[in-house]
Amino acid sequence: MERIRDYRVVIIGSGPAGCTAALYLSRANIKAVVLEGLQPGGQLTITTDVENFPGFPEGILGPKLMDLMRTQAEKFGAEFRVEQVVSVERDGRSFVVVTEDREYACDAVIVASGASAMQIGLESEKELQGFGVSYCATCDGFFFKGKEIVVVGGGDSAMEEATFLTKFASKVTIVHRRKEMRASKIMIQRAEENPKIEFVFDTVVEDVLGSKDKGVTGLRLRNVETGATRELATQGLFVAIGHTPNTKPFAGLLEMDDKGYIINKSGSTYTNIEGIFACGDVADHVYRQAVTAAGTGCMAALDCERWLSHHE
Ligand code: NAP
Repeated sequence: MERIRDYRVVIIGSGPAGCTAALYLSRANIKAVVLEGLQPGGQLTITTDVENFPGFPEGILGPKLMDLMRTQAEKFGAEFRVEQVVSVERDGRSFVVVTEDREYACDAVIVASGASAMQIGLESEKELQGFGVSYCATCDGFFFKGKEIVVVGGGDSAMEEATFLTKFASKVTIVHRRKEMRASKIMIQRAEENPKIEFVFDTVVEDVLGSKDKGVTGLRLRNVETGATRELATQGLFVAIGHTPNTKPFAGLLEMDDKGYIINKSGSTYTNIEGIFACGDVADHVYRQAVTAAGTGCMAALDCERWLSHHE
């Protein structure tokens, strides 16, 4: 396999954390490459308006914000490649980052691989993915013009997706497994005030009905309080129940918690392996915001830069 030795630092992931780390490293004259993964730009590329990233009082579209971050890093010499990392290996005091296509030998690694959408875990959900089951309202909302759809979840993602989907759908039902919602008050209020949105509480999806030919035709719902089941006719299911960290390539190498989030040394981005730093959602199950990811991306670049100069 081809081995590339052009970069001192490999940054894995191209969301706000990876882009900010790339910006800081390239401004410090450290040659860095960003391996972008399967979703270049990360989760913000599948969101709509971002209203809470400082500096944009009118809000900004997620994909636009990521374009700007990437352009800013490239301006100072950071390079970006669409490659998926398979593993990271130690090679003496250095590292080899293995992708599906080639290997990158480097002095240090910054892990900013983020998190991915969680699935309910039903066979029928898996089978009908792309046939009415979706995890991204921004990507697929357009296909549900004039249709009745269901959003599962009670967090900010579910509120945001449901509100966005009312631009297309004739009706959106939010199905949540409890009475209390995790979402912020302002997002709940926005959804509650939307005449196209209805809520169904204490309820889980037991089965997704339909076929690849017909698409989703309905859901079998179960009330967790009474145990009663019923069918709800719907033409689409949007699952918005949270995320899981993208840490598979680092299994056995980096210390992680029971959910797979990387554990950093307190107050820093140092992992348990000297020379590997972690930032953004992959090491943060608490805040998970674009601005905190960007902040820890900056921290990772500074930690990495200092570590490199100390070990020169
Ligand atoms: P989240 O806050 O973890 O909420 C996940 C929701 O899905 C919870 O209501 C949870 O129910 C439910 N859930 C989890 N597993 C389930 C399952 N197997 N079946 C049914 N329901 C399930 O995730 P999120 O909404 O994606 O938000 C993640 C972070 O991003 C949060 O910090 C949020 O504030 C932030 N965010 C911000 C914005 C914004 O400000 N524009 C937009 C989106 C997300 P329980 O409550 O019962 O656990």
